[in-house]
Amino acid sequence: MELGGGVPQAPEPLLITELTDYRNGIYTLDAEYIRPLVAAIHLVVDQGRVAIVDTASNHALGRTQNALAALGLGPEAVDYVVLTHVHLDHAGGAGAMMAAFPEARLVVHPRGARHMAEPAKLFAAVEEVYGAERARSLYGELVPVPAARILAAEDRQTLPLGGRVLEVLHTPGHAKHHLCLFDHASRSAFTGDALGISYREFDAEGRPFLFPTTSPSQFDPDDMRASADRVLSLAPDALYLTHFGRVVPAEAVVARFRRLLAGHRDAACAEENTPAEGRESRIRTRLAGLMLEEVRAHGCGLPEPEVLDLLRLDLDLNTQGLAHWIGQRAAAPR
Ligand SMILES: [Zn+2]
Repeated sequence: MELGGGVPQAPEPLLITELTDYRNGIYTLDAEYIRPLVAAIHLVVDQGRVAIVDTASNHALGRTQNALAALGLGPEAVDYVVLTHVHLDHAGGAGAMMAAFPEARLVVHPRGARHMAEPAKLFAAVEEVYGAERARSLYGELVPVPAARILAAEDRQTLPLGGRVLEVLHTPGHAKHHLCLFDHASRSAFTGDALGISYREFDAEGRPFLFPTTSPSQFDPDDMRASADRVLSLAPDALYLTHFGRVVPAEAVVARFRRLLAGHRDAACAEENTPAEGRESRIRTRLAGLMLEEVRAHGCGLPEPEVLDLLRLDLDLNTQGLAHWIGQRAAAPR
């Protein structure tokens, strides 16, 4: 798809190889961001009305339009485009989607709202993390969302959708402006990055491997733990992760997430008072060791180089986020 020329107008040729129907009004579409099975776009459909949860990048618009068409729904069926947070693997396509779905309101945490109306600062921050060239190729041109169409959602705010109600929960930790969405009808939680990542490649006999994402620049481990506890206290039947898909929060799955979150924190704290020179690479080495150990204990049969290859970007981002976090701690008054 040609990017940079504004909003893509025409849907791509029908290509929705990966639209999963969970038979509870929830569908998951593979955004094909970076590679298959990395970023999901979830659709909640009730009485012909639609909420889209996370947008991936501009590249996913055509696929989303095709998915709606395949469900017999037009662009005006979309009531909400909900962003769990404004990192661009979740929100990069928001402006393009809002232009394509005329009835939709953009639901975002109050701390993220401004960035969607004026995305220049957000894009600059992303260039900082990814480099300018890669940022451009991943995300293209960010389309601003008219401020009047943005709903800065408060904690516990409810969103009626057809015959069901979606509830917003503020869930800081991955980012200060992170929110989750709880669907009371299906007892499902749309967790963005609040409860981590679970790549399907790591499934072992159908059991998912759940690990935290600590990417920059607002990661806070204590907030992440509290937010996870809050979502899990609602006893969801399933979590719908952006990376990737449906995860049943069985006790062992959640225990591993908690252990890995503590492990990430410890890896950072162990390097807190070491020389700045080489600190990031030492944190990364610690994280790689921790992850390999847990992937193996989980029973995943993939060879080590393949595991590290699948985790490469997350290890980089998690390292950067942890280094940033200890840097902030050092700067903060004790
Ligand atoms: Zn993400």
